[in-house]
Amino acid sequence: MKTLLRWTAFFILGVVPIAFFLVTMAVKNGLSKNRFLNKIYAKTHHYFWIKCPLCQNYFGGHESGENYIMTSWFTGRVVCSNDECQNAAKKQMLQFMKDNPPPVGYVREK
Ligand SMILES: [Zn+2]
Repeated sequence: MKTLLRWTAFFILGVVPIAFFLVTMAVKNGLSKNRFLNKIYAKTHHYFWIKCPLCQNYFGGHESGENYIMTSWFTGRVVCSNDECQNAAKKQMLQFMKDNPPPVGYVREK
């Protein structure tokens, strides 16, 4: 009987609030897109968690792709790993490099 009471108390005081919190956060962050777990991963592994400048969806530093929006030859804005954003960023990079000649002394890595 005592064990049953302890388990009941553990469930009501421990499991129910935690489950409520997790479900609330999951719904708030969009469980269908699995953003919740990615946010936790990013925050606990010291990755950034920002909005993609192209699609406005949040993404973590562990998800960023290899292409980015070039704002100068030395700076850029990272975009999420969605194919559309990656392709748009790559297109912008190539256009930027075509329009703006590299600065004197700029050595491109092979
Ligand atoms: Zn995006």
